[in-house]
Amino acid sequence: MKQNFRIGTGYDIHQLVQNRALVIGGVKIPHNKGLLGHSDADVLTHAIIDALLGVLALSDIGTLFPDNKEEFKNISSLILLEKVYDLILNKGYEINNIDSNIIAQEPKMMPYIPEMKKILAKTLRIEEDLISIKAKTNEKMDAVGELLAIEANAVVLLVRLVVN
Ligand code: ZN
Repeated sequence: MKQNFRIGTGYDIHQLVQNRALVIGGVKIPHNKGLLGHSDADVLTHAIIDALLGVLALSDIGTLFPDNKEEFKNISSLILLEKVYDLILNKGYEINNIDSNIIAQEPKMMPYIPEMKKILAKTLRIEEDLISIKAKTNEKMDAVGELLAIEANAVVLLVRLVVN
């Protein structure tokens, strides 16, 4: 039995604005601002989705779930993640592991990371220890450092078992 690996990366950024909930990795984080977007603007989940799509060259989240479609308005990004992973499973691949970063100046992400891992693992139906989430600030520089945005990136490795 041979293993066939493929890798993909994803990146996302959303504006931090008033009167929006802050949802990251499926966790609603108490904060005075939230991320602007057509869906729930879950920046980490979007980066993971784009990495998953990138692995098998299946275009990107904006192409698959256009932001002018009413059906995706305020939708939980976890639903989109589940749909995308179903596409991957149908192609015979499964997740080997995910590594990701959230880059936010405020609020502190660390306390919410265990819950994010739990939710993402449950959505993907994989073990929690296959998911790594790290948190960084941007040292007060650029849009993220100036509290205008939150950014995330992710790398996903998929594996396929090949019988021969
Ligand atoms: Zn996004």
